[in-house]
Amino acid sequence: MRSDRIGGRKNLKFGIDIGHNAPPDIGAVGIKREDDLTKAVGTQVIEKLQKLGYDAIDCTPRWAASILDSLKKRVQIANAREVDIFVSIHFNTLNGRASGAEIFTTSSAGGKIAKPILREIVTLGYYNRGIKNGSHLYVIKNTIMPAILIECCFIDSPQDMNLYSTEAMANAIVKGLTGVNPKNGIAGEGSDANEIASVNSEILALQKALNRLQIRDRHRKVLVEDGISNPETRSAIARFHAIAGLPSLSAGGAATWKAIEEIFERPILRPSHATGKAVRYLQFRVRSAIDGVFGPNTAMAVKRYQQTHRLTVDGIVGSQTWSKLIG
Ligand SMILES: [Zn+2]
Repeated sequence: MRSDRIGGRKNLKFGIDIGHNAPPDIGAVGIKREDDLTKAVGTQVIEKLQKLGYDAIDCTPRWAASILDSLKKRVQIANAREVDIFVSIHFNTLNGRASGAEIFTTSSAGGKIAKPILREIVTLGYYNRGIKNGSHLYVIKNTIMPAILIECCFIDSPQDMNLYSTEAMANAIVKGLTGVNPKNGIAGEGSDANEIASVNSEILALQKALNRLQIRDRHRKVLVEDGISNPETRSAIARFHAIAGLPSLSAGGAATWKAIEEIFERPILRPSHATGKAVRYLQFRVRSAIDGVFGPNTAMAVKRYQQTHRLTVDGIVGSQTWSKLIG
């Protein structure tokens, strides 16, 4: 029974990100230290997943030059290793009185993964703080697969810390992820991780990228991040192709990604120097005519944009302006 059920899922690959633990990226300190607990829980989650026959990749960097570098490295590992589901493990702090568990995500696929995990943690006795929008979180925004960030409980809450056990927390996360209780290997009611991983990850990655680029669908709506190739998603891809100057017939695929990457590289764009897809995208965002050449009209539109967004008005698109454009 057990080997049948698990055997069929062995190809599923989890990326486990142990929060912080990469100086200068260090966690919060309360009654206990976040670094210690994320390390303990994350290590157990990886071991338990592997024991159940899953691929579990540790996405935690050993060192980092800065906090941003630490976050970038986690994303790079997950994207390069092509994990199916990204799980970042953290512990919360606030004011010593707040307590409970919460999970951040953005995509609807992420929501499906988060729900059973939160239910398992709440079953342990923690307060349910809900599933929250994690679009501000670097590792969620920049990973290309469904991604969640778990705030297991509060390290500065006496109530949570009395209740806390590493083993129980790790079991709850693994059971929520796989539907299998690692304590006894018996399948219960949990997420069908395989079903979630079977969403077309290429389409989901495109939906996430297009939303980040603020390319809307034919109804000018934000795309639903569900990994399903529907008319809305296709209309947004077509719109992106028009902006980037790609042939309208090459739907999706390598050319689309190459153009997206050119923009995500956030090259410094200067008037009379820059051309290409990043300039075309810039022109779309600052509402200048899209011709791919950074001339005087584009420079004026950039200055208007900088003024509106309270940036230094110099007509040069550097890291400050790019962070307003695509975060
Ligand atoms: Zn944290």
